[in-house]
Amino acid sequence: MSETSFFQQVCQNFDRAAALTSHHPRLLEQIKVCNSVYRMAFPVEKDDGTIEVVHAWRAEHSQHKLPTKGGIRYSLGVSEDEVMALAALMTYKCAIVNVPFGGAKGGVRIDRNLFSSRELEKITRRYTYELFRKGFLGPAIDVPAPDYGTGPREMAWIADTYLALAPHDLNALGCVTGKPVGQGGVRGRKEATGRGVAFGIREACSVAGEMRALGLSPGLAGKRFVVQGLGNVGYYAAKFLGEAGALLVGVAEIEGAIANPDGLDLEAVVRHRRATGSLAGAPGATPLARSADALELDCDILVPAALENQITAENAPRIRARIVAEGANGPCTAEASSILAARGAMVLPDMYLNAGGVTVSYFEWLKNLEHVSFGRMERRFESGTNRRLLATLERLTGQQLPEEEKAAFEGPDEEDLVNSGLEETMANAFHEIREIRARLGAGVDLRTAAFVSAIDKIATTYGAFGIFP
Ligand code: NAD
Repeated sequence: MSETSFFQQVCQNFDRAAALTSHHPRLLEQIKVCNSVYRMAFPVEKDDGTIEVVHAWRAEHSQHKLPTKGGIRYSLGVSEDEVMALAALMTYKCAIVNVPFGGAKGGVRIDRNLFSSRELEKITRRYTYELFRKGFLGPAIDVPAPDYGTGPREMAWIADTYLALAPHDLNALGCVTGKPVGQGGVRGRKEATGRGVAFGIREACSVAGEMRALGLSPGLAGKRFVVQGLGNVGYYAAKFLGEAGALLVGVAEIEGAIANPDGLDLEAVVRHRRATGSLAGAPGATPLARSADALELDCDILVPAALENQITAENAPRIRARIVAEGANGPCTAEASSILAARGAMVLPDMYLNAGGVTVSYFEWLKNLEHVSFGRMERRFESGTNRRLLATLERLTGQQLPEEEKAAFEGPDEEDLVNSGLEETMANAFHEIREIRARLGAGVDLRTAAFVSAIDKIATTYGAFGIFP
């Protein structure tokens, strides 16, 4: 484990990039600091009548754009330093993918497995109330989302509590994203971070020059990958990488790890783990001695998608993957990143690679403010126009297209539009970062280039308000 705190590590990465820009030092300091942190403690009555004191935080790292945005984490590892670091990453992430939000993050220090659903609901509603009464929640102020240990259910509780507290807020549903589709969510949000991870990796693999430098052939098909963490991000990243032709050769979870160089069946592994509570004994898989051994498996792509500080100065020299794709936030320490770079590996940085979640959260927030779902107004119209065009083509050519081929010309539905917006965002951001890296010259990695991209955009925002010359 690194001696440097998580927030200090983010700041170190920031400083390295800031030195490559020409912004005023005070402006750089303002961009780097964490603007506000609300630390709270509240009591929760458990089902057996005992009282537990819960500690929780919300950090708003930067309000240069509003609302601020960032997930809520339920984990025993939550601390003030961690939420500040994750909030800072959110600021830079939003800037990198051109999502008009400041950065925030929340955390509740609990082991969610030790609480019943009823107790979790009480904790979530009380946390929401605390955020609301201190002005840390609202569609124009600060908009949470799911993160480690939380999901659509918790987001629905937050929305419902906010609605009760602010009944006259017409845009109330925009107070949180990652909600179930029936409660104001958007189709594709649940899968968005993992899908974005897969899009980002695919984009990197599509650049022949980048792959040549790593000793790999271009394209995702046939590339062998390992995933750490089969949660929301890891599962969907593995699913979409598999669908794009990559081969899953290892999986690590909290209780252990499995491998098969000829490929694992993701759905069979998930079914087995759900039924038995463990990866051990999954069909066609060899168990590894320790969970962390999976990180060191022979593969082309390693996707750490669990938690921070998983690849450190200790194990980085043994990582064999040529591409380390940071699905989680902060999985590689700053020292580990330097070791991986020195060994010629490519690190696809978290601030870029896992930005799919906040990108689709932005779409959900827009949907909530618009009070209409994407595609509702134009889908039928576009389908009709396309059908008429096809009919004209058939008449002119004398050829008939089969009905199933014609179906492809239906107008896009909400999920098509969300996924297309996500794909466009991930592809554009990757090439933007690559161009900045090329401009900055040899020795600059993608993470530093991503930071420079973010710093330049945030600096412009402050300039626009005349706060800094
Ligand atoms: P999750 O709770 O759905 O899944 C995390 C998984 O990791 C769990 O299955 C857990 O058992 C496993 N895990 C925990 N410690 C582990 C270890 N030491 N080894 C192997 N597996 C371990 O959480 P998530 O939402 O998928 O988030 C994972 C990471 O991705 C976090 O760093 C989070 O901040 C980041 N992230 C999440 C989102 C999102 O939309 N959910 C967006 C951006 C970034």
